[in-house]
Amino acid sequence: MSKRTLIIGAGGVGNVVAFKCAMNSDTFGEITLASRTLSKCDQIAKNVKDRVGVEIKTASVDADSVVELVELFNRVKPDVVINVALPYQDLTIMDACVECGVDYLDTANYEHPDTAKFEYKEQWARDEAFKKAKIMGLLGSGFDPGVTNVFCAYAQKHYFDEIHTIDILDCNAGDHGYPFATNFNPEINLREVSANGRYWENGEWIETKPMEIMQVWDYPEVGEKDSYLLYHEEMESLVKHIKGLKRIRFFMTFGESYLTHMKCLENVGMLGIKEVEHKGMKIVPMEFLSTLLPDPATLGERTKGKTNIGIYAKGLKDGKEKTIYIYQVSDHEECYKEVMSQAVSYTTGVPAMIGAKLMLEGKWKADGVYNMEEFNPDPFMEELMVQGLPWKIRED
Ligand code: NDP
Repeated sequence: MSKRTLIIGAGGVGNVVAFKCAMNSDTFGEITLASRTLSKCDQIAKNVKDRVGVEIKTASVDADSVVELVELFNRVKPDVVINVALPYQDLTIMDACVECGVDYLDTANYEHPDTAKFEYKEQWARDEAFKKAKIMGLLGSGFDPGVTNVFCAYAQKHYFDEIHTIDILDCNAGDHGYPFATNFNPEINLREVSANGRYWENGEWIETKPMEIMQVWDYPEVGEKDSYLLYHEEMESLVKHIKGLKRIRFFMTFGESYLTHMKCLENVGMLGIKEVEHKGMKIVPMEFLSTLLPDPATLGERTKGKTNIGIYAKGLKDGKEKTIYIYQVSDHEECYKEVMSQAVSYTTGVPAMIGAKLMLEGKWKADGVYNMEEFNPDPFMEELMVQGLPWKIRED
């Protein structure tokens, strides 16, 4: 029977998911793209129709309202809902999936609106409800989280008896030509970067000051880059699921101009997430800053350069020490040529589509709420190769 797919969120990632689902329409069947702003969905649907020749339906929805979501689900009758809207709508989309018995996938962690804190607790707490409703929830099916989790599972399955340390390395060497802009949602990006760093060692989380730890890593096809230790969400699930792990850290590259602007904005209070009074109006500085900054969706056509994201793992195989780096390199301009989005949206949207494809095909299927590394990594790794994110491995 033909399937139905509902994508919620018409940002940069939603655009890529819509394109890629359309390119795999045999699996995704009837595709509907819904978001708060209908005109954005219509524009994406028009681009998909022009380039891929596949018709996408569109709808407007306020995903903060379970009632609106349930109405939409009853109309569309989706087999899977791909949530690429913002992560902090109180997980209404998960709740609507439980109410309507529909499988669910997202690309991000729940973020508390009032504190710069993100964690899986709230999503994991829905596991029981998902099991009862006999539906599946796949969490964090983007690149990081997402592909990085699958890389870890793949390393564990094929290369190690025990993995002792993992460094997740996220390098974006793209240049959009602006003195300062963020490649995805500015609020999420700046909150992530300005928060304290954290890594996990010997069973405990160790906190660092923002940007306190810097290391220079040499990224294949990109070169050496200053890389800063941050907390990142996939570590929370990986420490539960990777055998023998003693330490896991996450590093992201930042250019000097980005860091100087960010420090300055932070010093003057523009990264604040609490309301302030301005001429009788209440505003949140970070939201106002978001309004001023270039819309990430418009950066695509001006961004040049490459991304390299991977996992550097050390451990034991047959009693001997072993080191591998599994990585993926994307080119911003190539991504834009294919789907009119730069590589950050591309590398998130393609894995979201692949996760949903494996769910619809029954290759990844279980009742309850899961992280990516809990499933067999092989079919996902095979799909990456053919869907636009080919990966490589360097051993020892
Ligand atoms: P954007 O902010 O560009 O887009 C989000 C979209 O969701 C917008 O179209 C927006 O509305 C829509 N939306 C937001 N709130 C609601 C709501 N209440 N009701 C309906 N629609 C809503 O984000 P991105 O496309 O850059 O990112 C999408 C997701 O992917 C985010 O959750 C982000 O954290 C995650 N991400 C994950 C990565 C990974 O590697 N795992 C990397 C990058 C991003 P409107 O229609 O008004 O525009």
